Amino acid sequence: MGTPEFAPYAVSEHNTRGRLVHEDAPSGRSEFQRDRDRIIHSTAFRRLEYKTQVFVNHEGDLFRTRLTHSIEVAQIARSIARRLKLNEDLVEAISLAHDLGHTPFGHAGQEALNTCMKDYGGFEHNLQSLRVVDVLEERYAAFDGLNLCFETREGILKHCAPENAAKLGAVGERFLKQQRPSLEAQIANLADEIAYNNHDVDDGLRSGLITLEQLSTVRLFAQHLEQVRHNHAQLSERRVIHETVRRMINTLVSDLMRETEHNIRTQGLKTLDDVRQAPPVVAFSAEVKVLSRELKSFLHTHLYRHYRVMRMSAKARRIIGDLFGAFMEDERLLPPQFQHLAEVDRARAVSDYVAGMTDRYAIREHRRLFAVEEE
Ligand code: MG
Repeated sequence: MGTPEFAPYAVSEHNTRGRLVHEDAPSGRSEFQRDRDRIIHSTAFRRLEYKTQVFVNHEGDLFRTRLTHSIEVAQIARSIARRLKLNEDLVEAISLAHDLGHTPFGHAGQEALNTCMKDYGGFEHNLQSLRVVDVLEERYAAFDGLNLCFETREGILKHCAPENAAKLGAVGERFLKQQRPSLEAQIANLADEIAYNNHDVDDGLRSGLITLEQLSTVRLFAQHLEQVRHNHAQLSERRVIHETVRRMINTLVSDLMRETEHNIRTQGLKTLDDVRQAPPVVAFSAEVKVLSRELKSFLHTHLYRHYRVMRMSAKARRIIGDLFGAFMEDERLLPPQFQHLAEVDRARAVSDYVAGMTDRYAIREHRRLFAVEEE
């Protein structure tokens, strides 16, 4: 495949560290397009549709789910990658896969499962995303998982504690050597933050859990809101919100592109290896970083800790805790493929099963196991 015009420090088919299991080069598409395509066809990817981002999937049809979140991340990351002449297929693959390891019920689910797993090596969603693409997907004749390229796997493993990194081989090395991942991975990481800060504002307003008045204390929001109201006096509230959010995304993305181009220049990056040795390059300017943090902390206080979200979190903790306890007590309650995994490591098998559940599957499974009047 002819490589599009990439910058010399971009990841490409010429400098990739390849796949764990050798495969012939794809015809008619690039290696990273193949990764992206495998992710889209995976079971874990389809499950994202029914996994909570902030709001439980069945609370409303218009809130973001992990699937629409991941698509928004990919959209933002691709725009940035294209402008910087980086590998757009790779950022798309990383973006679409970055949340594959998430439990049902958002962060509450992840915390609950981590608590259940504390004596068995813990649970961490980044590591789980890697486990999904490396081990858990059962689709191909020649290997477990999706056998993705090193750079896609490296991008999926956004964070990792040193004790876990040491067990992961090459893909964990950078956490031990204090090196950076590719620019494509760095972009997907910040595109994630841009996406959720903005769509959580939109979902938060739509749900009525936060109000425009409250958000007027957040500078990034207030500046753009004022602009919209100044330019369009008679606009409906829904359009005011969307116009404000899209301007915020634009400000964040433009700032990130400018600052990153500046860092690439001043650090004199020439190769992918330079990227790995340099400090983080993909970044907001100092000024916008402060504004973005302000928005993030607003959402923490007013949305993620809203009593209605907390109630959902409490229920999620109970469901995850109950399911984990029941399967740990008797692994014969697990579906057969997880019973096999349980022969090697019962806790990890239970955690894999529970983490893979969608919100509604977890609720149904809980009912099947605990409600005497049913089934
Ligand atoms: Mg995410």
